[in-house]
Amino acid sequence: MPEHVEACRPDASALAPVIDLAKCEGKADCLRVCPYDVFEVRVATGAERKSLGLMAQLKSLAHGHKKAFAVNADQCHACGLCVAACPETAIRLLKPRPA
Ligand code: SF4
Repeated sequence: MPEHVEACRPDASALAPVIDLAKCEGKADCLRVCPYDVFEVRVATGAERKSLGLMAQLKSLAHGHKKAFAVNADQCHACGLCVAACPETAIRLLKPRPA
């Protein structure tokens, strides 16, 4: 594990990645850099695609509807590697909303 990952903020567990699906192009940089296997990249479902605006749907089509999803967001240590790695600036670290 990279040294800087160990230096995560003490309140790291209070943050988790939120992906802007309208921006995400499924390039999987987040998946490659995350030390905690937070992400998966897959083809978005029809419902997920419909939640996007028209321009984002067209952009999504151009990339085969591949998107990243934070399927293990509770494992996030808020190191910020995915935020820095995303070429579309589609990831932010936010406090999870209460259920
Ligand atoms: S901030 Fe770090 S631990 Fe959290 S999802 Fe991104 S790369 Fe993974």
